[in-house]
Amino acid sequence: MKLFFTKKKWSEYRESLTGPLGFVPTMGALHAGHLKLVHEARNNNDFVAVSIFVNPKQFNNTEDLINYPNTLEQDILVLSQAGVDAVFLPSSSEVYPENDTFITAVPGKSAEGLEGAFRPGHFEGVVNVVDRLFEWIHPHNAYFGQKDLQQCLVIQEFASEKHPNLKIVTVPTEREKNGLAMSSRNLRLSEEGRNRAAVIFEVISKMKDSTADYDWAIEYLKQYEIETEYLTNIEISLNTDTGLMTKAWVFAGYLEGIRLIDNVLYN
Ligand code: AMP
Repeated sequence: MKLFFTKKKWSEYRESLTGPLGFVPTMGALHAGHLKLVHEARNNNDFVAVSIFVNPKQFNNTEDLINYPNTLEQDILVLSQAGVDAVFLPSSSEVYPENDTFITAVPGKSAEGLEGAFRPGHFEGVVNVVDRLFEWIHPHNAYFGQKDLQQCLVIQEFASEKHPNLKIVTVPTEREKNGLAMSSRNLRLSEEGRNRAAVIFEVISKMKDSTADYDWAIEYLKQYEIETEYLTNIEISLNTDTGLMTKAWVFAGYLEGIRLIDNVLYN
């Protein structure tokens, strides 16, 4: 497995590749959810590249950025074991050189509301980094997790305009045995917190089958010390391995000061 720290070195390598390239962008602190994306990429491409870059521009909360977990040595080990060909590890100045142009408008309606509303600037940051990475990595297929549902929708919409030859593949959420969606931020929860957080998936799975008012759900989550930021159902259009999904229940909230998100998709 090769490691690249600069665009220049990466481009030399990229030019030598013939055949489909699958790309998985990440912020590191890798877990089985990230690896699911990597396996999907491995099974459908001749080459697989993963990027690890904690993108400062997508953090609307400085404390969250400072505390973002870093397990780089372990990440590199698991990626090489997963059969990844190349890892791109750019520095911040490589990604955002001085006097560079920053896209300020996030295209499309998918960035409105939910994360777009509660995390101002978040999707601008995401779109900016992903745009640069797509330009440099120049993949045929790029893999994103359905755990970050709105991100999938934003990128799907953005890529269809700006990178029309690139296929965006969305991969189902990998969960702990208790149902908790895997997330790098779970590392910051206590063991008890990780147990309690399982109730989020329990609740949103029940919402899917009920037409009942969801105040009960917010109260129920409170009993587990989970403060809901939003819990709502939305209309979507997302291609998945089981076909087009048209609806989702989406949740965001806080437990032990850590922001957690999850969703269930349905038709
Ligand atoms: P991150 O490192 O959090 O930016 O995530 C990198 C990619 O992994 C994004 O496309 C995420 O949606 C995806 N991802 C994160 N957690 C999971 C999970 N539990 N299951 C599947 N994909 C995930």
